[in-house]
Amino acid sequence: MDASSADLPSKVRVVVRVRPFLPHEAAAAAAAATEGEPVPCVSVLDRASGSPPDDEVTVHLKDQATSRNEHYKLDSFFGQEDDNVREIFDREVKPLITGVFRGCNATVFAYGATGSGKTYTMQGTDELPGLMPLAMSTILSMCETTGSTVEISYYEVYMERCYDLLQEKPKEIVILDDKDGQIHLKGLSRVHIQSMSEFNKVFASGIQKRKVAHTGLNDISSRSHGALVIAVTTPCGDDSDHIVTGKLNLIDLAGNEDNRRTCNEGIRMQESGKINQSLFALSNVIYALNNNKPRVPYRESKLTRILQDSLGGTSRAIMVACLNPGEYQESVHTVSLAARSRHI
Ligand code: ADP
Ligand code: MG
Repeated sequence: MDASSADLPSKVRVVVRVRPFLPHEAAAAAAAATEGEPVPCVSVLDRASGSPPDDEVTVHLKDQATSRNEHYKLDSFFGQEDDNVREIFDREVKPLITGVFRGCNATVFAYGATGSGKTYTMQGTDELPGLMPLAMSTILSMCETTGSTVEISYYEVYMERCYDLLQEKPKEIVILDDKDGQIHLKGLSRVHIQSMSEFNKVFASGIQKRKVAHTGLNDISSRSHGALVIAVTTPCGDDSDHIVTGKLNLIDLAGNEDNRRTCNEGIRMQESGKINQSLFALSNVIYALNNNKPRVPYRESKLTRILQDSLGGTSRAIMVACLNPGEYQESVHTVSLAARSRHI
């Protein structure tokens, strides 16, 4: 297998994406400004002058109301003026897809508070597709020349339990370690995909299931991790029996919450405890990988256990830290955790 990854970005890149103000937010800010009031909690972010786009960037966060400010070093920055999902796809995700056709695994995470644009980044809208459909259509068109086949899975991790979203009724999936230390998701559906219309249909039904999966009523999609897996099997060399399989994991993480600020109680408190625990475990894994630590703590959460074969080794990953430009404290929380998982 040619798993050479010399032309791939290194390890886990951590990038920031700021969403634009929504129309009602822009209107509220304009109204406050005409009253002569400081616009509350508006963050201004920019790229440190002179830094090349693919190298280290310094992200500045500033609270307009209080003039407090912080800055953090990250791998790249996508500002709110761009159609930045397409730009993130071209610059950050496409190089990973090349590796998947050679049998390497890759993962893209969207990380950030609820309302920061994670789902918009990953799923997108009918008019502006997100990273999941963009990856799928690029992979399908590459299959025309490589003769590869594609299968997808879609699952959710909620309260440290894993559910298959491509079954008639979402079903809990057991995670097994085999004797070689490989992880298996027992019985997880894999659906063969040949066209975007097939993908859109299968994926839309999975998204629908996610909305009512366990509670029957409540949409818990922002409080669970949603993972689309695109597995690509490619024939290689002259020997028709020789194949390689690479996986691209695209994950819309649960919203990270600052419990001190949100005053959660009861089930919400339990949920947010589990969410923060698993996000912290993920950040520890990324930190260990980026800093060549001898021990990588994969076993500390369900998600990191599941992703063990797609983080580390020849695998590559990108974490997209998503920010709401109107939330200073929340943005500081997200960027500081993202910056912490990057190498120092
Ligand atoms: P999250 O999944 O992090 O909770 P969403 O993806 O649902 O956040 O985004 C919050 C809101 O912001 C949604 O109304 C979404 O449509 C909007 N939004 C996010 N990014 C953009 C963008 N680039 N352009 C326009 N609207 C956006
Ligand atoms: Mg969401």
